[in-house]
This record gives sequence, C-alpha cells and structure tokens, in this order.
Amino acid sequence: MDFHLQLLNHEELVIIHDIRLPFMDSFFQIDTLIIGRTFMVVIEAKNYSGSIVVSPKSQQLVRTYKQTDQTFNDPLEQAKAAMRKLRKWLFKHDCNAVGNLLSYEQVVFTNEKTSFYVDTEINLLADKYCRPNALIDKIEQLQVDKSTKAIPFSEVIRTSKLIASSHQPWFPKYTKLEHHISDLRKGVVCVTCKVGTMSYTPISCKWFCPKCKAISKDAHLLTLYHYALLINETISNKQFRRFFNMESRSSAYWILKSLNLPTLGSHRGLVYSLKPFLIGRFPFTDSF
Ligand SMILES: [Zn+2]
Repeated sequence: MDFHLQLLNHEELVIIHDIRLPFMDSFFQIDTLIIGRTFMVVIEAKNYSGSIVVSPKSQQLVRTYKQTDQTFNDPLEQAKAAMRKLRKWLFKHDCNAVGNLLSYEQVVFTNEKTSFYVDTEINLLADKYCRPNALIDKIEQLQVDKSTKAIPFSEVIRTSKLIASSHQPWFPKYTKLEHHISDLRKGVVCVTCKVGTMSYTPISCKWFCPKCKAISKDAHLLTLYHYALLINETISNKQFRRFFNMESRSSAYWILKSLNLPTLGSHRGLVYSLKPFLIGRFPFTDSF
C-alpha cells in the first residue's frame, strides 16, 4: 500500500505508518494515518487471502480460505476505536486543531487476489471498505474539497512530529522520525497550479511550470519552508540539489546564497540554517 500512497500529491499532506501510542494504561495502534489541512484518515490495512464477506451489522468479517471459514472482528470497528482514542490523545496533547479536523476511517484490503463483499445496502458504509487504488481517489477528493476551513500546515507538521516521537515500538529500538513520516514530494511544486513540478532556468534565475506555464522568481521558498519543517533545520548544497531535483551545483549555490541565510561549517561541510523560515522571517510563511 505504501507504493500506492506515494502516488498522492504529498504537498500539504503527512502520512504516518505503524504507530503505537500510549493511551490510559494501554496502547493503541494505527496502520496508517493521513493528515491534511482539512481532514484526517485512519486506515486499517488487511492483507487477507481468500474471499471475504463483511457484515457491518453484526460487526463481523468472515474469511473463506481453502474451504475453511474463519471469523474476525470487523476491521472498521478497529479503525473507529483507534480514531476515538487518537482524538482523545490529540486533545490531551494540545493538538486541538488536528483533533477537530473532519475525520474518516477506511479499511483497505491490500491483497489484490482477494475478493470482498460488504453485506449492507448503505452505500456510504460499503464505501468504507476498498482497495488501495480506490483509497487514492478518496484522498484526492478530500484534498480538492475546499468547503471546510484549512488549518495551518505548520500545525499538521507539529502534530505529526509529536505523534511520531511519542510512538512506542513493541521492541524498544532507535527509530528515526523519517522512518515514520513519508518524504514530501521532491522538487518545487508549482505555486500556481499546485500540480506541476517547476524547473529552474539559470539564465533568468526563474522557475517555470511546464504544466500551466507559470513563471516564478521565488517558488523555492515554500519548498524550503516544508523542508525545514519536516526534514531538517539545515541544508547543504548537495541536499538542496537532491531535494530540488537540480543537477547544477552552481545554480544551487546562487539560490542559497541569495537568501542570506546564516551558515555553519565551511567548504564542502558548509550548511545553511533554515531557522529564518521557522520563525516566519520570510513573509509567505504567515499564510501557512
Ligand atoms: Zn503550474
């Protein structure tokens, strides 16, 4: 399923996998949590083989495999319980903005060879069970729905970081934040159409979107802001080129130099501090 989720436009979306959070005297687990600026989705992924019949009314799932029936609890109930606990957890940890987002639960059957049937006449309920491809459609619909007020993306990031750092693995081990939070989409996302990936023209020092033909002088600022929030507070020339999909070392040098950022180290070890982005020194950060 991770493969399918990579197809999503990661702009302003955080995807966290395999979280286990302390709750009262116990823990609760979430397979995948997606947080956007207007919604959050708890996903319960099931990799059953065979054929499946879900009966939401009796909150049961019957799996038939090699002529044997096996009964499980309805995974949607699991997802709903996880969402209720997550909300309480969020309010307890001062993450009210995310806690108050519109929330959805979704069961995803990841085994493509498995057939499934939901025994209900309520379409809205049947829709809560799907395959990975349909999940992408659903998330994309939520992303384009502008009918609810969006919360700042910085709040999404702050909450996601708190969730990832509060994660308690079954076996205590060193886990990096990046392991849980998927990379942002690489490259400069067009600030006009939000779809195209802009390319840099060194001669004019401008960004160009092949999709909507928009031209921008400072499209890299938003991407750098997201990098600072989610990945690191410093960036080297090499990291910049990798994240911005840019080959030219000198273009990267001139872009970074033009920002007058504080620097640390020297020569090849030189890194630029992105702190000014985090304290709102760049005017655009006010609107996020
Ligand atoms: Zn564009």
